Amino acid sequence: MTAVMGAARTQVVVEAPLHAGLGRALDYCCAVALPAGTLVRVPLGRREVTGIVWHGVSPPAALPLRPVAQVLDAIAPLAQSWLALVEFAAGYYQRSIGELALAVLPPELRKLDAAQLAQRVKRVQREAQAASAAMAVVPGASGEPAVPMLTPAQRDAVTAIAEAAAQPHAAPLLLHGVTGSGKTEVYLQAAEQTLARSRQALLLVPEINLTPQLFARVARRFPTRRVVAMHSALTPAQRLKTWLLAHLGLADIVLGTRLAVFASLPRLGLVVVDEEHDASYKQQEGARYSARDLAVYRAHIERVPVVLGSATPSLETWQHALTGRYRRLALDHRIAGAALPRVRVFDLGRLPRVPGRPPPALAPPLLDALRQCLARGEQSLVFLNRRGYAPVLHCPDCGWKSECPHCSAWRVFHKHDRTLRCHHCGLAERVPRACPACGNLDIQPIGRGTERLAEQLAEDLPGARIARLDADAARGAGTLERTLAAIHDGEVDILVGTQMVTKGHDFRRIALVAAVNPDGALFSSDFRAGERQFALLMQAAGRAGRDAAQASEMWVQTWHPQHALFAALRAHDYAAYAERLLAERRAASLPPFAHLALLRAEARDAALAQRFLRRAAELAATLPEADGVMLYPPVPPAVAKVADLQRLQMLAESAARGRLQRFLAAWLPQLHSLRGECKGLARWAIDVDPLGI
Ligand code: ADP
Ligand code: ZN
Ligand code: ZN
Repeated sequence: MTAVMGAARTQVVVEAPLHAGLGRALDYCCAVALPAGTLVRVPLGRREVTGIVWHGVSPPAALPLRPVAQVLDAIAPLAQSWLALVEFAAGYYQRSIGELALAVLPPELRKLDAAQLAQRVKRVQREAQAASAAMAVVPGASGEPAVPMLTPAQRDAVTAIAEAAAQPHAAPLLLHGVTGSGKTEVYLQAAEQTLARSRQALLLVPEINLTPQLFARVARRFPTRRVVAMHSALTPAQRLKTWLLAHLGLADIVLGTRLAVFASLPRLGLVVVDEEHDASYKQQEGARYSARDLAVYRAHIERVPVVLGSATPSLETWQHALTGRYRRLALDHRIAGAALPRVRVFDLGRLPRVPGRPPPALAPPLLDALRQCLARGEQSLVFLNRRGYAPVLHCPDCGWKSECPHCSAWRVFHKHDRTLRCHHCGLAERVPRACPACGNLDIQPIGRGTERLAEQLAEDLPGARIARLDADAARGAGTLERTLAAIHDGEVDILVGTQMVTKGHDFRRIALVAAVNPDGALFSSDFRAGERQFALLMQAAGRAGRDAAQASEMWVQTWHPQHALFAALRAHDYAAYAERLLAERRAASLPPFAHLALLRAEARDAALAQRFLRRAAELAATLPEADGVMLYPPVPPAVAKVADLQRLQMLAESAARGRLQRFLAAWLPQLHSLRGECKGLARWAIDVDPLGI
């Protein structure tokens, strides 16, 4: 390849983290002027990589430049608004544009040359055409979808979304509806209006395990439209196909998890973020973006309405609704007069104590309630946010415990495959027959996970059909779908599970929900623990009593029955508890009243991580941008060591988001410059708007 002089200079971003020194766009030349957003193949060192033209035509360069190798012109360039979204996200989350831009494209796309891409595009178009033809031949093949008459509150919400669509800068909408109040129906009808205007709808959901049911519901509603699912569990080929359908404008509705916020949608007309409070919208590695926040930004620059839906909004969103920055649309009642469950808070302190014996997993009155439920042929759901059989094994003789050798955490006992597993580093070993320290044969489980709870229930309630749903139970291919189908078909009496069972599912038959051990979060050092636990319990309550004909109950057994969280739960009063939490946050200068970023460092030697953070703080002190930003001393996170790496983090806080942003941007190059000084540091990262501190 020869360098060409005088041809159009083209700025291209390639995948490269900031510290590689390729943070900005690279200069190439091209005989023709390429518009921004064009995908190209360019030489990089001795390799050839996919890049994106970023600034389009620039003045000719004085220096000879390497030429663009190929133009991937089988597809239209990425839209200006897409580039703006990526540029904003990269700046806000302190990553390089190239790293972020290429990371959010399908991996397969980055491997193809021009001819291969052209071939794939043709195939996708051909398949889409054939599918459309089939849909046209058999109109309403699956029968006309049943569209319910909206309730007045739903109608108001749909109207408000339509109004927002007609305005260039409408406020984001918070659809605050109790569980089972018909939020999804509102999304569907808003999507219908969007499609009627020949626009595309983007519907974000928190987790892929919620996608199959919702996907089926959306596909049923729009039998003549193309609905695609976009999430990280797709094969590389499926991901490329889905991405192309969206980019080519052939997909009408994109239903996806957080990465779908970056889908290329040339006709975007509506953005919905379902369960907007959910923590899985925050990416926890690489560019640690919040898909919820980016969805709001994207809708703003594309001038389309954005709907954030939740029964328990995040406090950030709720505060915006209180100040009027977001418009709140309320669905205060469940559909068809179904009542929310009656909440019974059981005081574990009332149980008679047997010296030397731990309290039973389930208080006798709760067990009775489950028994009666069973006798009536109704379903119940028992919720315990801890998977495995027991969180620790121990030896009563010598005090040995199943510590992970690589992490500051216990290894969890999983009975079904007789393993001890570390949930942090993944280390799995067979359970020792005898105590590894003293040879005692009688090592015992301490505490209780879902596996042990299910076993206990089977003992206490013989004949009950018990199913378990957690990350372990859902691992096998198709297991999750099968279990969910069995529940919907009434083939399960009692469902035991982690938070996985509390989210989103429209179970029609559940009459009793029990939260067995909700206390752990009440006194956590994580400032969001209370908010998260309240949301989780409200969501769990939301699984009960969706059938209006059935009375329903939620049981909570706790050592702290007087805690304000339970009073709010009993009253189903989100607003009251949110008000309380917001007052605490305001007093403590925490989000949403302050803005945070964490600098995290990991090294085999804690002293090295410490030194890096200390030097980082010294450098920060030299920056004029540090004015108005508070840096706290380094502290270890809740789990200090993972996979033999010691972790430390340092918190930066400011009352003003813009200040914090300017500070981080000035600090970042300094942090990169510390690399040489802190050799041996495994990694470091900035986490803007961290979820946990
Ligand atoms: P949410 O998303 O708030 O939990 P859904 O939209 O899933 O609520 O609605 C709960 C149930 O009520 C669903 O089975 C849905 O089909 C049904 N539903 C929703 N809106 C209506 C309506 N206006 N009339 C009758 N049934 C409805
Ligand atoms: Zn021992
Ligand atoms: Zn470990």
